[in-house]
Amino acid sequence: MAYINLDFQAYKHNLEYLGSKLGGVHKLMIVLKDNAYGHGLTQMAPLAAACGVKRAVVKNAYEASEVSAFFEKVLILIEANPEQAIKDEKFIYACDDLSALERFASGVNIHLKVDTGMGRNGVRVSELELAFEKAKANKLNLEGIFTHFYGADMLGSDFYVQEQNYKKVKQYAKELASAYGFEHLIFHSKNSAAILRLNAEFEDDFARAGIASYGYTDMDESVGKYGLKPVLSLWAQKLSTRWLEFGDIVGYGGVFRAKEKMQVSSYDLGYGDGLFRFDGRGEYKLKNGKNLLGRMSMDCFSIEGDDKQVCVFDDARYLAKINDTISYEILARLCPNIKRVVLR
Ligand SMILES: *Cc1c(COP(=O)(O)O)cnc(C)c1O
Repeated sequence: MAYINLDFQAYKHNLEYLGSKLGGVHKLMIVLKDNAYGHGLTQMAPLAAACGVKRAVVKNAYEASEVSAFFEKVLILIEANPEQAIKDEKFIYACDDLSALERFASGVNIHLKVDTGMGRNGVRVSELELAFEKAKANKLNLEGIFTHFYGADMLGSDFYVQEQNYKKVKQYAKELASAYGFEHLIFHSKNSAAILRLNAEFEDDFARAGIASYGYTDMDESVGKYGLKPVLSLWAQKLSTRWLEFGDIVGYGGVFRAKEKMQVSSYDLGYGDGLFRFDGRGEYKLKNGKNLLGRMSMDCFSIEGDDKQVCVFDDARYLAKINDTISYEILARLCPNIKRVVLR
């Protein structure tokens, strides 16, 4: 059976590295959304807690209920029906616009997202006072304010401009908080790339680290080198072995044709498990340097030889590159039903 290995020491190393930029691992809100970027939500949550993380960020209430036992608070990012938000001491909902402030039931914990330049979710800066007014009128438990950077991993000034916007918002929100009687608001803004770029004192209460905790950054190399370690490796096991004669084909479409007598084996992973399909043209190398032969099927692929098991990847950047995407997508697509094994 195919499986995923999760390297706890690598994870711990990444969290401690990120923590060292922030003043401690307890400053991390660890992002476990989308099945912990494909790593496995229920496997990663206790590992994060064991490293000293107190707060998590997840996609929805289902994910929150899966992990809340391990954390003091869990921030839920996506809720298209605020009326259905769950009132739970540990659950906090991200609030994405003014109308949501009217739709959450009173007493629900919220963090208000402010749009400081991304143009996606969050109230506009000009709406901030109205947002406080609505939160108060609707008796919402407004516990925090946050923003999200659209270009922290890009070279150029975009990030600095947005950071300046955020600083002003933070000051303004603090004034509004005391005017509207919201005590002890907490602030967070930084994602992985913004944490990695930090070279001054960390001024927020928390930072939301996703991809870097799993060992990656898609940041331009010239921005800096970071000692992150990939946590996940994907392994496939052998299904069958055969000898091909000259001219024999392998797989759909007969794209691969043997040029000589050779031994090939098939393995139990395919695009149905969350890998991208491979059309058999060009190169798709596994960790051991062997090329996939022909097309990838839904549930299997073939390579030369008869190894009992093979590592499909232990660094998502290679697959990201050949599939013209980012490491986030390679990881997040991995199916939840692949077995996860934690190596301590
Ligand atoms: C996904 C997400 C993050 C984490 O981003 P990384 O680049 O993976 O660190 C942080 N904040 C929000 C709001 C997100 O949606």
